[in-house]
Amino acid sequence: MLLSAVLLVSCCVTGGAVKDDAPIIIVPGFIEPMLGINIDEKNEEQLWPFTVPTLVGKILSDFPVLAARLAGLAVGNFDRFGTRLGQDAWDILYKLTCNPDGSSDYGIESFPQDPAQTTVRYLKNHKSGKYLPMAAFSKEIAAGYDADRTFVFCYNSQLDSLALATQLRAYIAAVKDYTGAEKVRLCSHSYGGQILAAYFFQYPDDCDAEKAVMIFPALAGTDAIKHILEADTDVPFDDIVFFLENLLKSPLSLETLISDKLCSEISEFASYGLAEVVEMWRYWGSMYALCSNEYYDALKAEFLDPVESAPIIEANDIIHYEMMPNLQSIFENCQAKGIPVSIISGSGVQECLGGDDNTDVLLPTKYATGAECAKYGAHFSDGYEPKGTVCDDPAHRHVSPAMDIDASTAFLPENTWFVEHAFHGGYGVQDYTMNLIEKLLLTDEITDVYSDPAFPQFNYSDNVNLGVLYGFDASQIGYLSADDHAIVIKNLNKLAPIKVLSVTASGLDLDFDAGKSLLVLPGQSVTIPFSGDVPAVKAQRTDITVKYMEGFSVNTMTRGFTVDNA
Ligand SMILES: [Zn+2]
Repeated sequence: MLLSAVLLVSCCVTGGAVKDDAPIIIVPGFIEPMLGINIDEKNEEQLWPFTVPTLVGKILSDFPVLAARLAGLAVGNFDRFGTRLGQDAWDILYKLTCNPDGSSDYGIESFPQDPAQTTVRYLKNHKSGKYLPMAAFSKEIAAGYDADRTFVFCYNSQLDSLALATQLRAYIAAVKDYTGAEKVRLCSHSYGGQILAAYFFQYPDDCDAEKAVMIFPALAGTDAIKHILEADTDVPFDDIVFFLENLLKSPLSLETLISDKLCSEISEFASYGLAEVVEMWRYWGSMYALCSNEYYDALKAEFLDPVESAPIIEANDIIHYEMMPNLQSIFENCQAKGIPVSIISGSGVQECLGGDDNTDVLLPTKYATGAECAKYGAHFSDGYEPKGTVCDDPAHRHVSPAMDIDASTAFLPENTWFVEHAFHGGYGVQDYTMNLIEKLLLTDEITDVYSDPAFPQFNYSDNVNLGVLYGFDASQIGYLSADDHAIVIKNLNKLAPIKVLSVTASGLDLDFDAGKSLLVLPGQSVTIPFSGDVPAVKAQRTDITVKYMEGFSVNTMTRGFTVDNA
């Protein structure tokens, strides 16, 4: 349920000028393409995506048993509740189990990869749009372009990215045939990004792509796979709050409603639940493809027999030993061929199943982009100089304002955008991220992180649950220099006004005149002047904290800024 909800997307309306006519192919993430038995026939059995309504239906049919468990829950038996829920899930999911060699005995199939049956218009009208992956996103992209020329690659997410890259290549050829177009535009999310990378890796001489946009791509995997396969989760408190606020689209802070005790109970619940269903994933080639290099060898040794699982190991050894270490040159080869590749990554959130990486909730930012990152909640020391392993141009500012990301080491330093507090599956609830995706995909207005000051290398999510968004009046957002004389604070709440109570800058002698501020209406901004001198230093981090009143609650937001005034 957690993973399904991570992929929740909702609607927002923006537009971009259509420049050319190359059809769009959307390559969705791991959890979205449909898997089942007898798909498209009357006796169809849909098994994946594993939806909450399916599970709830199963739970209700088991209600007497569950009622007893719920009673147990009231006295703290989260382990037993998790086990029961996991068993219910297993009754639905066991047919998705693969043999040790990665094959299936259950006749599992994915939705047909026929261009005529995979346009957004077809999928949207087919069985009430039940099969449309990334639904709101796909519809919005198609609305800005053409629902008959926007396609969705519906793949079997049990398979490793190399096998899927071969299928994607055939699908691209089929879409070209079907539309008569010479090239296609590729747009991916999550695992879809790794499939694109595998396509460019396996077919370095193909020139069928006009451009590739990768949203939160699982390029070098995630450590979450270790937590899943070992059914060992440690869900962090901050993530539960952030996750629920996103899920509920809550403009109010839920922090005070969630206790440490509840947090550890949710962790326990998730671990026991996972233990019941983890066998399903054990022989999916995709699980090992999605694993980070850090844990691949250990998980391979723990879960895969060298003889019985040889096909899974063979493909994944190529992915981990040949593809993942060479992502930079794979993408540089694309750029050299005239195929622009753009990467968008989230950052600033702890990984939802445990660990101390800086992530978008699910994927460590370092694996999605190649950028060196400080651990979650930490930052580089003052005076930090970018490593410059990929870009060493001293005129470029590749270190994030919070001084937690060094993009000079990224696969593509000039073509990677970072959105702090962007939620892995939540790009659809952030107008900013959606606008950036549409600009990159539907226009040629943005060629790198310098093309448009509105879309710099580092920016913040404008998701309503974050409350306020702020930056200084003269500097690029996130930075502070002697040119600045005021802070501009936007109310992200679309319904209620806020009142700014105070602004402070840690370690700096700045005095913000917040006392006289009036109500800031929904979606509006207020400019608050400050007095005092910005020190003449470079790369010094300061925490800017805004305290504000929303209804009857007093909220605070703190963000890391960089004083860049040398
Ligand atoms: Zn650069």
